[in-house]
Amino acid sequence: MEAMVARNLFVGYSLGELDPISVSHLQFADDTLLMGAKSWANVRALRALLVLFETMSGLKVKFNKSMLVGVNIPESWLGEAASALCCKVLGTQESDRWRWQPDPDTGYTVPLKVSIFAWRLLRDRLPTKSNLVTRGILSSPAQLCVAGCGEVESAHHLFISCSFFGSLWALVCTWIDIPLTDSSTVRDHFAHFTSSGGGSRTRRSFLQLIWLVSVWVIWTERNHRLFRGSTSTSIQLLDKIKLFSYRWLKSKNVTLALNYHNWWSSPLLCLGLV
Ligand SMILES: [Zn+2]
Repeated sequence: MEAMVARNLFVGYSLGELDPISVSHLQFADDTLLMGAKSWANVRALRALLVLFETMSGLKVKFNKSMLVGVNIPESWLGEAASALCCKVLGTQESDRWRWQPDPDTGYTVPLKVSIFAWRLLRDRLPTKSNLVTRGILSSPAQLCVAGCGEVESAHHLFISCSFFGSLWALVCTWIDIPLTDSSTVRDHFAHFTSSGGGSRTRRSFLQLIWLVSVWVIWTERNHRLFRGSTSTSIQLLDKIKLFSYRWLKSKNVTLALNYHNWWSSPLLCLGLV
């Protein structure tokens, strides 16, 4: 992959505007993420790269299990690119109903890094401590949750059942005024949370946004505690969730008369969803 980028056969995805860095691939264990700019040359290069990888490694690339995710790319183009790559487009199957592209009605923009993070979370491919122990990277005594609750840090523990991190959901649900969700898996939690109160596509789309912001805030707080030694309180984390969700909505949606003060107290009212 690096050789292809170096020879300009593949153009990676640029992050940042002033001093852009180009990202072409990320790997975690058996999960590989290839990223590139939208072009047919890139699609052809990807296909060639994967076929070459199969030949050289003797391993099979499961094209039909692979997924193509677009960020601000028309679905028609994605569909054509996916058929050229013999893979699926994430977001069109019933089982993968979350939308990664801005919704035309209620649009919000989730930063690319958050999309990637959430995708890994829902597939339990995040480098949580328990996953690192399973992979032989971390020793068992080091796998306790950073909140000091004494439990093993699995994705389910960290994002749902932890007495500290998990308790954020109660604050979030009170803020947006929906019942508290209890689920046995992270995916179930996502599904229950986003369909809470039934309702319209607009409402689901909004709840997806809140869910994504919440898990992102939990993950960054976990990393701050682990790597920086800094801690925030639950109330501070809730404030971050309010702030980020406001920004992500604002960055896309200009039709809503969003006022941060109103957003702070009653977001559903702001969005006309009550
Ligand atoms: Zn914990």
